[in-house]
Amino acid sequence: MDGEIECPSCHRISLVTDDLDACPRCECDLERLLQIALLAHAKIDQALRCLTTGGWEQALHHAEESRSLRHDARAARIAFLAATACDDLHAARKWDDALQQMRDK
Ligand SMILES: [Zn+2]
Repeated sequence: MDGEIECPSCHRISLVTDDLDACPRCECDLERLLQIALLAHAKIDQALRCLTTGGWEQALHHAEESRSLRHDARAARIAFLAATACDDLHAARKWDDALQQMRDK
């Protein structure tokens, strides 16, 4: 998995690597956070596979699951695309708002 993880204690951003299990700055245990991040990443992979095969509703479902685990812009973008493809304009609007809020931070 590529990506970054923020230490909940000192807010240091670390690149996710195979041997990262504690914050390099404050030594806070990051293992559980990493497990959640890995699960969120796996859900994004599932969503992308569904997008490539036209499984829009499944893609939306997996993207929403990923987003519930980790607030990641990629999951929100996939959810927006899938919701649009599903013709679910209410959900598309919700995901567009979520993306806008992430840009404004
Ligand atoms: Zn830390």
